[in-house]
Amino acid sequence: MKKVAILGSTGSIGTQSLEVIRNMDNIKITGLSCNQNIDLLEKQIYEFHPEIVCVTNKNKAAELQTRLRNNQNKTEVVTDTSGLISIARSGEQLLITAVVGMIGLLPTLLAIDTGIDIALANKETLVCAGKIMMDHAKDNGVRIIPVDSEHGAIFECLRSGNKNEVKRLILTASGGPFRDYSAEQLQDVTVEQALAHPNWNMGKKISIDSATLMNKGLEVIEASFLFEIAAEKINVTIHKESIIHSMVEFIDNSIITQMGLPDMKHPISYAINYPKRLPCSLVNSMDFSKTFSLNFSEPNYKLFPCLNLAYDALKSSGTAPLVLNSANEVAVELFLKKQIKFTDIPKLIHKVLDQHIIINSPSLDDILEIDNWARKIAYNKGVK
Ligand code: MG
Repeated sequence: MKKVAILGSTGSIGTQSLEVIRNMDNIKITGLSCNQNIDLLEKQIYEFHPEIVCVTNKNKAAELQTRLRNNQNKTEVVTDTSGLISIARSGEQLLITAVVGMIGLLPTLLAIDTGIDIALANKETLVCAGKIMMDHAKDNGVRIIPVDSEHGAIFECLRSGNKNEVKRLILTASGGPFRDYSAEQLQDVTVEQALAHPNWNMGKKISIDSATLMNKGLEVIEASFLFEIAAEKINVTIHKESIIHSMVEFIDNSIITQMGLPDMKHPISYAINYPKRLPCSLVNSMDFSKTFSLNFSEPNYKLFPCLNLAYDALKSSGTAPLVLNSANEVAVELFLKKQIKFTDIPKLIHKVLDQHIIINSPSLDDILEIDNWARKIAYNKGVK
C-alpha cells in the first residue's frame, strides 16, 4: 500500500484527488487537511479513514473533534501550521499539496526533508521559494511531480527528449472568460463574471488568476523553477479549447504536445501513479469522429498586464516573484470582497513591486518576513 496524505482535501484538486483514489485499491490515506469545511472533511474521514486530520481554523477543529468523539471515531484532529506539518509528514510515500497560497510552503518543505515525494498542485510554493524547494528536493532525492495541467503536460513531453535538447517550453492558456473583451469592457467586470471560467472547473482564487492571466504568469515562474529553464525560453500561447495542455519544442524544431479533454483528474492520476501510467476511467477519451479545430493566438499583454509583471519578476529573480505572489493574493482577496476593481489588480501588484528592494538569495526567514511585508503594503494601498 502506498501511504498518501493530502493538504487541502476539500478544495477542487483535493476532492478530485480523492475521486481518483476512490477507484484505486493500493492507496492508504494517512492524513487530510482543510481550512474550515468540516462537513465535507467529516464525510472524507468516514470514507477514507485517515489517522490524523488538520483543520487550520481552531474553532472548527474543536467542533470536528467533538463530533468525531460523539460518533466513537478515533481520528485525531490537529490545527494550525504545526498540524499541517504533521499531516504532510504522515504521507510516507506521497504528499499531495493541494492548498492554495503560501500556507503550503512550510509543510511541503518539511515533508521533503523526510524524503516524501510531492505531487504539487500548489504553484505558489514554487513561485515564492522555487530555488529553496528544488535544492531541498535534490538534496533529499525527492521527486516533485507537477499536478498543474500545463506542467504535468510538459513533464510528460520531456520524457521523450533529453533536457539539453529542449529549445523552449510553450504553455497554453485558455485566456479566461475575458479573452475577447475590450479595455472598456474590462473596466466593469464583476466578481461573478470573473469566477465563471469557460473551460475549467476550479477554486475561486485560481479562477480570478485565470481571468487576469496572472495564473499563466505564475505558471511561467513555476515552470522556470521546476524544469530549470530561463524565462526567455518559456512562451505562452492562447489556446481557447484547452485540449493541448502544453508543449515542448526541441532543438530540431519538433514539437511534442500532451493533449486530452480538459479534466484535472488526468494530471492527478498521472502524478499519483508516476512513474507508472495506469488506466483512468474517470477521464473521457477524445472523439476524433467529429470535426473540431484547435486555435492558437498571442496573449494580449497590454490588456492583461499581469502576465508581463510575472515575466519581469522572474527575470529580476530573488524575492521579486515572492512579492508578486503575495501582492496578487491580497489583490484577488480585495477584488473578491468587491473592494477594488478587476483592472486595479495589476495596478496594485505593480505598486507593491515598485517599493520592494530585491534580495537575491533569500533564506526561508527572509521569505516569510517579506511575504508579510508585501501583504501589509498591498492591504494599505488596496483599501485606500
Ligand atoms: Mg494550470
